[in-house]
Amino acid sequence: MLVVTGPSGVGKGTLIRSLMERYPGLELSVSATTRKPRPGEVDGRDYHFLTPEEFQRRLVRGEFLEHAEYAGNRYGTLRSELDRLDAMRAAGGDEIRGLVLEIELQGARQVRRALPEAVQIFVEPPSLEALRTRLVGRGAESPEQIERRLAVAEQELAAKDEFHHRIVNDRLEDAVEALARLVATIWGQRKSGENE
Ligand code: ADP
Ligand code: 5GP
Repeated sequence: MLVVTGPSGVGKGTLIRSLMERYPGLELSVSATTRKPRPGEVDGRDYHFLTPEEFQRRLVRGEFLEHAEYAGNRYGTLRSELDRLDAMRAAGGDEIRGLVLEIELQGARQVRRALPEAVQIFVEPPSLEALRTRLVGRGAESPEQIERRLAVAEQELAAKDEFHHRIVNDRLEDAVEALARLVATIWGQRKSGENE
């Protein structure tokens, strides 16, 4: 399992898409959220869009591996997403396979406790100014929401040292290359560990 964390707008989604093109055996975990869909987002593909009541009901039933509140909405990884890992293990082979979780800091900490073997990667922006430019450029949130996300970003960046693996997303191609190399190296190490 690959956990990718970093402030909103840093480019996690963009990087993961490129990584998955390169390694088609990777699958993205579909999170649940109470946030409203953005234009173009599809229920069940981008997120499981839940009402706050449904989210709470599932939480009480113990259906989440991790969950967090972020900028006024709730987000969480459903345990059912992990079933896909069993199928990947059963498939075996040398192709790079894994489940990718794109989640914020509190969730990443919960996964670290629950599944210490998961690989955790923190994506950093070259600067806060660059982060602001990207959030504004994406055009998905109101100016108030952007300010809220930038305030959270400063807290998240303060925790980057918790992560073994860090990638600065300055030039996109360089960051994609660094991420792909990192994943291939870790995969190789784990495979050779299994064969010993
Ligand atoms: P996240 O998933 O971390 O919230 P996105 O992948 O949605 O971030 O990226 C936020 C915006 O920044 C998008 O408009 C994306 O095209 C842009 N972006 C991503 N990486 C870079 C980069 N290296 N340089 C400039 N813009 C980038
Ligand atoms: P967005 O609203 O931009 O889609 O996501 C906001 C933040 O929530 C991002 O940092 C994203 O990584 C995080 N996020 C998305 N899904 C989950 C999840 O299942 N759990 C947690 N903890 N965070 C998530």
